[in-house]
Amino acid sequence: EQNPAKRPLKLLLAAPRGFCAGVDRAIKIVELALEKHGAPVYVRHEIVHNRFVVDSLKAKGAVFVDELDQVPDGGHVVFSAHGVPKSVPQNAQERGLAYLDATCPLVSKVHRQAERQVEAGRHIIFIGHAGHPEVIGTFGQVPAGSMSLVETVEDVANLAIANEDNLSFLTQTTLSVDDTAEIVEALQRRFPSIIGPKGEDICYATSNRQNAVKAIAGQCDLVIVIGAPNSSNSLRLVEVAERAGSKAHLVQRANDISMNWFDGVETLGLTAGASAPELLVREIIDSLANHFELDEQQVTTAEESIIFKLPREVAGAVA
Ligand code: SF4
Repeated sequence: EQNPAKRPLKLLLAAPRGFCAGVDRAIKIVELALEKHGAPVYVRHEIVHNRFVVDSLKAKGAVFVDELDQVPDGGHVVFSAHGVPKSVPQNAQERGLAYLDATCPLVSKVHRQAERQVEAGRHIIFIGHAGHPEVIGTFGQVPAGSMSLVETVEDVANLAIANEDNLSFLTQTTLSVDDTAEIVEALQRRFPSIIGPKGEDICYATSNRQNAVKAIAGQCDLVIVIGAPNSSNSLRLVEVAERAGSKAHLVQRANDISMNWFDGVETLGLTAGASAPELLVREIIDSLANHFELDEQQVTTAEESIIFKLPREVAGAVA
């Protein structure tokens, strides 16, 4: 029955949004490992940066740990989608642990590029966010000292480099497309001979989700991004919406939403970071429908069909 107090709210749903192929694969790896080996299966770090996903896997018997020394001998362990330093699989091998690597193939690609650049004798400038697990993992592919981190254009100006003629750059996969372009420009200005990746290291899912939110944010009074506070690609979606002139909030679940946000809001944009399941998008729409007469429209800026192959060890376990 209609609630007479409900006012109309236009809802623009950004597409693509939510799960990317790397997140989908990582979650499947944990689920299939649980099917194959039974609980517990240990997972080093949050498999993807989403509490709902982590809690769902915990309920099925996954045990999340920070480091391998928390995995008992004989345990099965999965490494997260963000990638790990080389020392982690080495350590697992030394201990005789059975491990599965859920590193996204697009992150692994950057790892291999890093190795290749160092083999070619180049110093790498890595554009990324200090402390993010992907950055720690990528730095851990090459000997200490062979890669320098920059986060901003200012960092480029402050870099102290011994041999400026033998440089290359690589990037984290989940950065802001616009900010990264500026940092790359600054690098090329300061180091004209610097070599960069052929394509882009920012992944298709990150750039597609940023484009999609850009396409709706100009028409929105508020954009809600579903994602975790430690999810790099989700935080970038909030920034993109704000730069396009909309207010924006990051939420994890429907109950994070405050009705105060909606004063004067006639058009709401909704999107989700690459680690947020579509279930949470529906949860939020259902909860908004209790308060508003929703006029829901999806705005699609790209079609995605990428699927990554599962590791051989679990591919056979598919029911
Ligand atoms: Fe892979 Fe990109 Fe998804 Fe990260 S956001 S898991 S790099 S597809």
